[in-house]
Amino acid sequence: MGNISNIYYPQSGKLIVLGAGESGVGAAILAKDKGFDVLVSDKGAITEKYLLALEREGIRYESGQHSEVEILGADLVVKSPGIPENAPLIKALKAKGIPVIAEIEFAAQYTDAKLYCITGSNGKSTTTMLTYYMLQKGGVNVGLAGNIGKSFALQVAREDFDAYVLEISSFMLDDMFHFRADVAVILNITPDHLDRYDHKMDNYVDSKFRMVRNQTARDYFIYCLDDEETVKGLKRHHTPAVALPITQEQIVENGAYLDGDKNIIINTSKGEQFIMNTEDLSLQGKHNVYNNMAAGLVAKVQELRNRSMQESMSSYVNIPHRLEHVACIGGVNYINDSKATNVNSVWYALESFSPQIVLIMGGVDKGNDYEMLRDLVKSKVRAVICIGKDNTRIHESFEDDTDVIVNSSSMRDAVEIASHLAQKGDTVLLSPACASFDWFKNYEERGDKFKEAVMAL
Ligand code: ADP
Repeated sequence: MGNISNIYYPQSGKLIVLGAGESGVGAAILAKDKGFDVLVSDKGAITEKYLLALEREGIRYESGQHSEVEILGADLVVKSPGIPENAPLIKALKAKGIPVIAEIEFAAQYTDAKLYCITGSNGKSTTTMLTYYMLQKGGVNVGLAGNIGKSFALQVAREDFDAYVLEISSFMLDDMFHFRADVAVILNITPDHLDRYDHKMDNYVDSKFRMVRNQTARDYFIYCLDDEETVKGLKRHHTPAVALPITQEQIVENGAYLDGDKNIIINTSKGEQFIMNTEDLSLQGKHNVYNNMAAGLVAKVQELRNRSMQESMSSYVNIPHRLEHVACIGGVNYINDSKATNVNSVWYALESFSPQIVLIMGGVDKGNDYEMLRDLVKSKVRAVICIGKDNTRIHESFEDDTDVIVNSSSMRDAVEIASHLAQKGDTVLLSPACASFDWFKNYEERGDKFKEAVMAL
């Protein structure tokens, strides 16, 4: 039984979990329930929450080291997506032929629930949460897992859902082999994390397409027809799954598209046509039209009623830090888009607001190419305010496109400068295009500091 139609991995013996985070601890609990001899091994420190969980469950663990001899005697290894494939221990395990798999791959063996899986370079969390919200409001007994919230394995062990919405990253996909998604969604593919893919875009695209591996003609594949890399990737990766494209640029028979009046039209073989005007969506912006189309298609596959889908799409409140409206002060709107850690998401953010925009950006640059932002900066941005340690590349990229590019010394400083430069009707947008860890712990802290600074104005 299980979503993996056959069991591909050992069902007993020694199971090693590498990495004691949310997914690792969940996998350990499920493995223990299934009768494995389990060891959780983390090279770093284990946070208190997970230490307590392991102790409560009576699961053996080690921290600050990997006991190589024991680990190399494993029957099966479940690895955290954070550990790179080329870590010496992983290489040694693979050389011995010991299977090394993701927590999702492991847990999928032990559930019959429908698996709705969402991946992409941007919009995963938003679409996953929106889909979950729609299904839940539509009366489906559904769980939420993957990169979000409680681990899939823990829920498979201790809950009893009929379906799961799973947010899947490419790092997880790299350790998935036999997994089959009932519905696979690839939202978009734009450059990100290329350092883990030998700086080759094709490798990253191939990783995303692992989402459709093992799908059958009974399954569904939702993808974006307007996304260049996805369309290129489709030529290399064929799937028998029912194709449900999303597009804002053409009309499709089955799938989702926009009509001339900006209505989202969804057609599938299941139930009647769905129509909803984009103005009635609670999440605004062109990128969110795609996200709503993808979530709407999943809901249709699950045969939700149109009325229920419309209610959900008009009432959903987004998770923080994604184009989050913070306040309107003196006629200026302040928007927190701290989760925008790459150039593509900043493009969509700039696209979403009318001029003029005061843009706060910068941080740890992951080899960004700012070229695609230049037209929008030229036409919409009044000023760029840089945060983070080194902003040379931002200055170089936009010096011909906007008159004002200034550095700031802290988030509070940046927000104060922004409030002086912004005029009534403007938008002050934090959309950094960069990682946060030069000035902040993570993107959440960066967004929270922005919100604090806005509220202190
Ligand atoms: P992820 O989980 O893939 O990182 P999020 O939903 O957290 O995605 O959104 C991350 C950033 O990407 C936000 O700044 C958001 O505004 C932007 N974004 C959301 N959906 C899309 C999309 N479909 N295409 C491009 N950018 C998007």
